[in-house]
Amino acid sequence: MNTAPGHIRRVTVYASSSNALATDYYAAAERLGEVLGKAGVEIVYGGGRVGLMGAMADRALAEGAHVHGVIPDFLNTVEHGHAGLTRLEVVKDMRERKHLMIANSDAVIALPGGSGTLEELLEVITLKRLGQFLGPIVMLNTRGYYDRLTGFLENAVAESFMADQHLKMWSLVDEPIQVLQAFRDASAWSTDARHFAAVRTPS
Ligand code: AMP
Repeated sequence: MNTAPGHIRRVTVYASSSNALATDYYAAAERLGEVLGKAGVEIVYGGGRVGLMGAMADRALAEGAHVHGVIPDFLNTVEHGHAGLTRLEVVKDMRERKHLMIANSDAVIALPGGSGTLEELLEVITLKRLGQFLGPIVMLNTRGYYDRLTGFLENAVAESFMADQHLKMWSLVDEPIQVLQAFRDASAWSTDARHFAAVRTPS
């Protein structure tokens, strides 16, 4: 099915700012923009016109999607902001941006990225662990990019830094078209997650 589940109306996308990647990554970013645009969801992202961000946003706009960028003033002034968006919101700093990017979002997708993407992704995973963000979190695993991160997180569970239930917080897909099914398949999550956020010794 090429439509999003009814409760997923606004999707946050985290993505690399790099313009020096292998072509597979840009192809995946464009395809994701197409899939989300055709699915009719609103997209919120970092507002950049560079890298995978720009590739995803341009393709989604071409599909007629509503694309909302949230960019801090200092990045916008060095002309990294995408001028063709439905809405470009200029904010004070990175913290405000990260908060606004997921404030009213129903799901998160992480395309491959560097420290900026990884920080955003780990923050939303942490918020979900604490029951503060409840939507699906899907990593787009182009070229197996997220195998190492999910392997690291699985080891964190094996070593009891996190609990088994936390493995249900995210999912991995190989192809952009699979994100819509991943939204449907995501494990239900609630604010009760805060009660098992910290791992305790069995009593
Ligand atoms: P990175 O993966 O390190 O390239 O960082 C990309 C992520 O950080 C995006 O999801 C953006 O929210 C943010 N970001 C980093 N650099 C930029 C930029 N030049 N323009 C817009 N957003 C950026």
